[in-house]
This record gives sequence, C-alpha cells and structure tokens, in this order.
Amino acid sequence: MNKPAELQLATVPVWINGKAVVPQGRMGDVYNPATGQVSKRVPLCGEKEIDAAVQAACTALPEWRDASILRRARVMQRFLALLQKHQGEIAARITQEHGKTLPDAMGSVQRGIEVVEFACGIPQLLKGEYSENVGTAVDTHSVRQPVGVCAGITPFNFPAMVPLWMFPMAIACGNTFILKPSEKVPSASILMAELFKEAGLPDGVFNVVHGDKEAVDAILNHPAINAVSFVGSTPIAKYIYETCAKNGKRVQALGGAKNHAVVLPDADMEFTADALIGAAYGSAGERCMAISAVVAVGNSADPLISLLKKKATAIKVGPGDQDGVEMGPLVSAEHRDKVLGFVNKGVAEKAKVVLDGRNHGMKEGYFLGTTLFDNVTRDMEVYKNEIFGPVLVVLRVDSLEKAIELVNSNPYANGTAIFTASGGAARRFENEVQVGMVGVNVPIPVPVAFYSFGGWKNSLFGDLHVHGMEGVKFYTRTKVVTTRWPHQDTPSAGLNMPTLG
Ligand code: NAD
Repeated sequence: MNKPAELQLATVPVWINGKAVVPQGRMGDVYNPATGQVSKRVPLCGEKEIDAAVQAACTALPEWRDASILRRARVMQRFLALLQKHQGEIAARITQEHGKTLPDAMGSVQRGIEVVEFACGIPQLLKGEYSENVGTAVDTHSVRQPVGVCAGITPFNFPAMVPLWMFPMAIACGNTFILKPSEKVPSASILMAELFKEAGLPDGVFNVVHGDKEAVDAILNHPAINAVSFVGSTPIAKYIYETCAKNGKRVQALGGAKNHAVVLPDADMEFTADALIGAAYGSAGERCMAISAVVAVGNSADPLISLLKKKATAIKVGPGDQDGVEMGPLVSAEHRDKVLGFVNKGVAEKAKVVLDGRNHGMKEGYFLGTTLFDNVTRDMEVYKNEIFGPVLVVLRVDSLEKAIELVNSNPYANGTAIFTASGGAARRFENEVQVGMVGVNVPIPVPVAFYSFGGWKNSLFGDLHVHGMEGVKFYTRTKVVTTRWPHQDTPSAGLNMPTLG
C-alpha cells in the first residue's frame, strides 16, 4: 500500500567513485529529533555496496598515492576554503538530524575544519629522516608511505567533526578512504564528499556508504581494506578492535567515556560552575568529552551545587534551530528512553535529586531537561555507566588524593579536568591522573588539531590517537632504506650479519 507522506521523503544517497547513488535494498529512517518526525530515508548498505566502494578506492589508489605532495596539499587547501564557505549549511544538516543547537553545530564543524588546516601542511608533516655514513659510505633514510585503502566508522554525536578527524589526514597522506557515518546523521558526510570533489579530488579517493552492523561487518571483513578508524561506544569499539586485529588490519577504536571534573575548595566557584554547566549540558550531554561526574573536594560541594542548580535551571531547552535555545533534544526516542531510565534509576538508588530533568514541558520531540544528582556514590548505576544525556552527578570526597584515586579507578579514561587556584595541586593531578586528555581550569580539553585526540583504557583500543602527528603515523607505514654505492675497494658482504662499518 502506498504511503503518500513517505513517498515524498528524500533519500540520502551513498557516494561511490565521485557520484551520488541510491542503492536498492534495506532502508532506514532519519529523524528530526526536535519533532520526532521521520525526515529522510537512508540506505542500509550490505556487502555489495561496500565492495563497490572498495573497488573504487582500490582503482583510485595508485594515481593518488603517487600524486605529488604539493598537488595533494593544494586539493586540501581548496577543500578547506569550500568547507569554510559551506560551514553554515553543514551545521544546519547537523541540527536537523542530531538536534544540537546551530551555534554548537557551527563550533563542532569549526573544530573539524581545523584538522583540514593541519592536513594542508602535509608536505612538512611527511618529511622523513636521513643519516649519512651510518656505515662507511653507507646512508640510511626513512620514508612514510600510505597504508592503502582506509575506512572510518563514526558515531551520531559529531556528524562532521569526527569524520573530519579521519579522512582529511588519511587522504593527505596518499590513502583512499571509505567513510561510514552514523546512519542516524548521514547527510553532512555527503555534502562534504560533494565539496571535496569540487576541490579537485579525483573520483574514488573518498567514498561514503551508509548502514548499520551489516555495513560495518562488510568493512571489517573486506580483504582490500588495510586500516580502520572507529569512534563510538566502548562495546562496539572493542568489537572493531578485536575483529580488525584478527583480520590483520591496522586499527584505532575510540570508545565511550565518563569524564570527571575535580573541584578543589580554592577554585573560583562562579567560573567553575559556568564551565561545568557548558560541559555537562552542552549538546544535551551527548559529547564524548562531556563532564558527567563532578568530584567535589572538601567544602567546595555546597556552594558549587547551589550555583549549578541555579544555572542549570536557567538553561533554555527547545528546538536547536530556534534563536536563544541553549539545549536541544536527544538524538532518538530510544536514546531519550535510555537516559530517562538512568534518571529513574538514580532516584531509586537514593541519589539526592537536586534538579529533575523529567519535568520539562516539551510536547513533541525527544527532549529531556537538565538533571543534577548529589551524594552519588561509586557503586550507583548513575555513576558506573556512560549516560550520554543531560545528567550530572556529584560525588563528595575529602582530599585531592581521594579524588585522583576515584578518577583512576574508573574504567573509562577519555578526558578529565581540575578546577583550582593552586599550581601545585594542578601539577600533581596532571602528573598522577591516568586519563588521555586533561584540562586545568578547562572543562572540555579537546586538543587542537595539531595535537592528538584520544583517551586511555576503555576509551581507546589501539596505540595511536587521531589527528596531529599520531594521525600521520596511523595513516602511513614507515620504510627504512639503507644505501651503498659500491666502490672497488669495499669488501664483499659475506654470510655474517652485516655490520656496515
Ligand atoms: P555506537 O557505538 O552505537 O555507533 C558508532 C558506529 O558504530 C555507528 O556508525 C554505528 O552504525 C556502528 N554500530 C552500531 N552498532 C554496531 C554493531 N553492533 N556492530 C557494528 N557496528 C555498529 O555509538 P553512537 O551511539 O553512535 O555514539 C555515541 C558513543 O560514541 C558514546 O559512547 C560516545 O562516548 C562515543 N564517542 C566517543 C568519542 C571519542 O572520541 N572517544 C567521540 C564521540 C563519541
């Protein structure tokens, strides 16, 4: 039976070999989280479409890997200019499908664009090493060569920024790439693919496919894909890491988080509360670097909590494209229900409810208000789990030592921050805390593009972080060449281990 409303829905295409295509087969729904209505359809690819993208990437590889570094850099420069020009359009697609506010979406695209700025410097970044006379008349040099066909699998919460952590670095290094963005937010990636083509990128170098586990498994099991970058939740990150390792692929898999902010009594409380409000409730808490647990040391707790309550109550909740709105909806009904379930659990396990986000007054869409729990303990579910919603929990401890022990005993280790006026306390925290990214009076210490982003422990499986020099290392293989141009007087090598001298 025909459903007229559905027939009018646009389908987000895949992008293979420089062309937008709508494959036949399974389809998924893309929602507008502010209204709860289906806004588009998205193809859920299987082995056939993944293989078509891989074939395109394999065909494009020889020419692209041998393109001069300057040519690759110039394509990147034109891509940079086009991303800047279309930043608003990319942000609008993010708000439509993810729900975050437009200014927040603009900021996230900006952070992604900064990776492209860094990738424009690829001629400098790919320089190797050279040593003359490592033996008598023997020289050694190293080069960084592309890995080959690379793939990226990305989460719903940063539809442009997280893909931009990956594919510009991989492509600048001379690889070809297949991106599988989250099927919940597929449109921004297609716009970026169109812009990259307009910038002069040859067909097949960058491809975008959509889908769920079936598409991911086809990527993980495809023999022609050499490296996989993943960002998403911890259980899937672990699965990606193990499957890629089994299949002999290079892999980096970034997982979930529970980020703590430690607040000492000497911190500027007004400044700290403002910082924590943005970090906990910005993007409705759907950030891997969101602060979701505050560790209040000594007598910092009472003044801090009363400020947090006042500021969290004032946050304006509504559709992300409306002026003045500070917090949008959650991404889906399923995710809203999961977060709501944690709020119910927090109440049931007797955390003190300072602010109850279940009372919000929005009639449609996947909204929740801001929730603040006090007197939370480390055995409670609201502390142990990544909630990924507008829920902030406060734990009270009586010393910096105990705060560090608490942070270090958590299995997640993505980001953390300390708020204090004491340089000594901050230095000790920075030195002893076992977390990948640390802020000192900075609540969301997301490193700039010329440093690397990544957590420790259950927040990252693999050895190398994304972007910065670690990104260059991930997307290249080192080759070391030892050279001798024989003279008549050099002795023959013989059968012993060569010592060159
Ligand atoms: P997710 O793990 O559900 O999905 C991530 C990707 O994996 C998507 O492309 C999805 O299609 C795919 N996927 C989902 N289920 C799969 C399965 N069973 N098998 C194979 N592939 C599957 O994550 P999400 O809900 O999209 O994103 C939120 C999560 O991402 C949070 O845990 C958040 O902390 C994390 N995240 C981490 C970082 C970081 O830098 N560490 C950054 C952003 C988000």
